[in-house]
Amino acid sequence: MSDGIRRIVALSVLMLGTGLLWVAGRPTNSEADAAKSEQDTALREARERATANDPRLKGAYRYDRGGWVYVHLEGEPASVGFQHGYLLAPEIADAFPAIKAQMTHPSRRDWDFFRTTAKDMLWPNIDEEYRQELQGITDGLNARSGSHLDVYDIVAMNAFEELPDYYVAWLDKREKTANPPNLKSPGNCSAFVATGSWTKDGKIVIAHNNWTGYMAGERWRIIFDIVPKNGFRMLMDGFPGVIASDDDFGINSDGLMVTETTISQFEGWDPNGKAEFVRARKALQYAGSIDEYTKIMLDGNNGGYANDWLLGDRKTNEIAQLELGLKAYKLWRTKDGVFAGSNWARDPKVLKLDTPQFNPNDMEISPNARRTRWEQLLDENKGKLDVEIAEKLLGDHFDTFDKKEAANERTLCGHVDVSPRGVAVWAWGQNYPGGAVQGKASDSTMAQQLRFFARMGHPCGEDFIAKPFLAAHSDYAWQEPYLRDMPAGPWTEFHAGEIPAPQR
Ligand SMILES: [Zn+2]
Repeated sequence: MSDGIRRIVALSVLMLGTGLLWVAGRPTNSEADAAKSEQDTALREARERATANDPRLKGAYRYDRGGWVYVHLEGEPASVGFQHGYLLAPEIADAFPAIKAQMTHPSRRDWDFFRTTAKDMLWPNIDEEYRQELQGITDGLNARSGSHLDVYDIVAMNAFEELPDYYVAWLDKREKTANPPNLKSPGNCSAFVATGSWTKDGKIVIAHNNWTGYMAGERWRIIFDIVPKNGFRMLMDGFPGVIASDDDFGINSDGLMVTETTISQFEGWDPNGKAEFVRARKALQYAGSIDEYTKIMLDGNNGGYANDWLLGDRKTNEIAQLELGLKAYKLWRTKDGVFAGSNWARDPKVLKLDTPQFNPNDMEISPNARRTRWEQLLDENKGKLDVEIAEKLLGDHFDTFDKKEAANERTLCGHVDVSPRGVAVWAWGQNYPGGAVQGKASDSTMAQQLRFFARMGHPCGEDFIAKPFLAAHSDYAWQEPYLRDMPAGPWTEFHAGEIPAPQR
């Protein structure tokens, strides 16, 4: 498709999307409201017209499918950012207050604290390229929506996985904060990567479901296709306003296939390090090998959002697990094997130095119960693993501790909202509204064409309905303004450079 047609598609999709949004949000209960609303609409349309021809938007477009929003971004860092902020302005405007609540409520720190931290601690160590992109997101968002967020709001939002549960936890301990909040590093995700005799075609299969609070998870529905001026093209899932995939699942045009699960009960932070969201984005953009990936993640490691990275290199058919602690790390690699993740560390040094509280032998807790389930399922499917089976495994509901089928906090497809136990090791209370919020899967062949499958909502296909949940669980009333239904979509294929079919 030519640039011209692509641009028309982009703009019509954009206008259709915003039209619907504005109609839905328009108050009609009084004439005064209606008049104000008309004024707002006129202003917004004037802003749209003024910016729609902005040269920074050249080549960018978006479309919606299967519960996801696909955006194609390309060019200079400032342009990639501007396109991101502009095309996803409604989603960023919707996500920002939810993330703000998620960061401030449990940590008992106000937004100014996070903004100041973003400015004074994170910004000095952000590469110039990503500073420009983050500023571009701010500019694009403000040009389209008239929002007044500045770049430090956006940087703090980008660090939503690392500032509250890693930095604040570390700071409270260091400053001996009286009665500190119970903050624990999160347990995000179930995933595996396999190769050689483990897979159906002998090549790599990679799959991941994202575990997080539903409030953030139901907004984690962006597919980013990024063609940066420098580095490799990337196709990844992600969060509106955030430059890294952050959950993480992505492939790049040089053959790297990347995912991770977080390390439960991780402790540690280096205030002089480089933010995790910057390293993770940089590694997906610039690494063409497992070694290069490892090198970028280690460079300036701040300990934030510490993960077991599961990697594949389709050029060599090799897979790896990079267990990235702060005081220790370990890299395993093989051309014939499988690595799984469900939020447990296994290297003795990492366990001792970085996760002193974690008990790898307590089979009742979510990370270890899911580890057992991965071992069973991967063994059962040895030699048969492909994307179709991977999709099924991501929706698995077998609880290895109770030895029965029942979705809860111990199943690969997590539904913690139905668990009276919650997940204490992540400070998720009973019936915490969190669990598996979406899934993705790909293989070497698909990765070569920059393609993957993704499903929004629980990978098993069950819906989460917010209203009865909130009525039954008053502990989570603080989430009421932001928590909404999370309907499951279909498994949906996306590929880089895809132009949407005309939408009605
Ligand atoms: Zn499920």
